[in-house]
Amino acid sequence: MTNWPAVSIPRTDLSLPSLRIKTTSGTFNSVLSEKPFRMYVCGITPYDATHLGHAATYLTFDLINRYLQLAGQKVDFVENITDIDDPLFERAKRDNQSWEELGDSQIALFESDMAALRVLPPKDYVAVTNAMSSIIFAIEKLVADGFTYELSGSIYFRIAQYLPHLTIRVDDAVRIFAERGGDPAAPGKENRLDPIVWVGNKDDEPGWSSKMGFGRPGWHVECSVIALENLIGKDYLQGGNQGPFAIDLQGGGSDLIFPHHFMTAAIAQALTGIEFASAYVHAGMVGLDGKKMSKSKGNLVLVSTLIKAGNDPMVIRHALLSEGYSADRMWLEETLLTSQARVARIRSALARIEVAPTEKVIQEIAANIADNLDTPKGLQTLDNWAIKTESGEIGGSVGELSRFIDAALGLAL
Ligand code: ZN
Repeated sequence: MTNWPAVSIPRTDLSLPSLRIKTTSGTFNSVLSEKPFRMYVCGITPYDATHLGHAATYLTFDLINRYLQLAGQKVDFVENITDIDDPLFERAKRDNQSWEELGDSQIALFESDMAALRVLPPKDYVAVTNAMSSIIFAIEKLVADGFTYELSGSIYFRIAQYLPHLTIRVDDAVRIFAERGGDPAAPGKENRLDPIVWVGNKDDEPGWSSKMGFGRPGWHVECSVIALENLIGKDYLQGGNQGPFAIDLQGGGSDLIFPHHFMTAAIAQALTGIEFASAYVHAGMVGLDGKKMSKSKGNLVLVSTLIKAGNDPMVIRHALLSEGYSADRMWLEETLLTSQARVARIRSALARIEVAPTEKVIQEIAANIADNLDTPKGLQTLDNWAIKTESGEIGGSVGELSRFIDAALGLAL
C-alpha cells in the first residue's frame, strides 16, 4: 500500500522521563530497548474517513510513537486498512458504488488527512486485500490445527478456551458482540461468542479461493495476521516465537476493546502459541451533539471538511490534543475557535527574538506527555510560556522550543 509522506522529527538531545500510559489492564511503563518497540494500531474501514474520532485515535498513537522515538527507542509501527468488511460492502451497495472505488477514495482521503495532521506514517500500512494470501494461509492453519469448525459454509473460531480472559460479563459480551458485527444467535454455533474467521461466499460479494472454499476472511483474523506477519516476520507460523508476548502494544479506539481486540488476541495466540500484546491502549470516542460520531447517525465532522473550510491542520491537531485522549468527549465548535486563538498566541511568541526561558518548559511538557499523554497540561504549559514571553521575560531559545513541540507534539508552528 502506498504510504503518506514521512514527517521528519527534529533531533533533540533530551533525556526524557519514562512514558507511562494507562492500559486496559494496568499501566505501561516504557523501557528503552535495543529491540524495536512493536506497535500495531487498527486502521480504518475505508467508508467514513477521516472523522475527528479517527483523527483523535491516530494522534494518540502518534504521540506514543513520537515520544518513544525522541527518547531514542526504535519503533516498528504497523497499521492496517480493513478494506474487506461488511460495513464497506453494505455502504458501497447502498450508494450504488463499487467497494473498490469507495475504498480507494476513502483511503486517499485518509492518507492526505494524516499527512496534513503530521501523523508519522507506519512502517507497514497494509490493506487486507494486499495480505490475502497470508491471511488465507493462516486460517488454513487454524483449521488444520483444530481451532475451528464449519457451519453453513463458513468457518468459526472456537473461543471457549480464551473466555477466562474476558473482563466483562458473558451476557454483556454477547450483547456487544451482536452490536458490533458478531452473530451470537446464529443456529448451530458451539459458543455464542465464536467469531467467524472465514465467510462462505455470499451473493455478489468479493471472494478468494482457499481450502475452506470460495469466500473471504472475517474481520478479527485479518488484524491478527497483519500484525504478526509485519511485526514478528513471515515465519511467525513456524513456532519458536519468543514470548512472553508477540508484540508490545495494540491500539485503537475504545469501541475495539471488545470484541475486536479480544478476538484478535485469541486468534493470534492460537497461531503463535504465545500471548499477543503486552499492552492494550485505547482512545476515547469523540461525539457531537451528545452522541457518538458515526456515519450511521449522520453526525460526522470530517478532517477534510474542516481543512477545506480553511482551518489550519495545526489548529485542528491542537484542538484534538487540548483534551485527554482516553475519556470520551464532545467536539464543540468552540474547541476549534479556542485553539485558533491559542495557536496564534504561541506563534506570535515564537516569532520573537527574545523569549521567556525554555529549558524548564521543554522538561515540563515532556513530563506532561510522559504522564499518560497529558497533552491538555502540556498545551497549558506552552500557553504559560507565551504569556511570560509577552510580559517581557527573556533567556530562552525559540529554536529549541519549537523543535521540541514539533517533535513531541507534532505541532509545527
Ligand atoms: Zn484491528
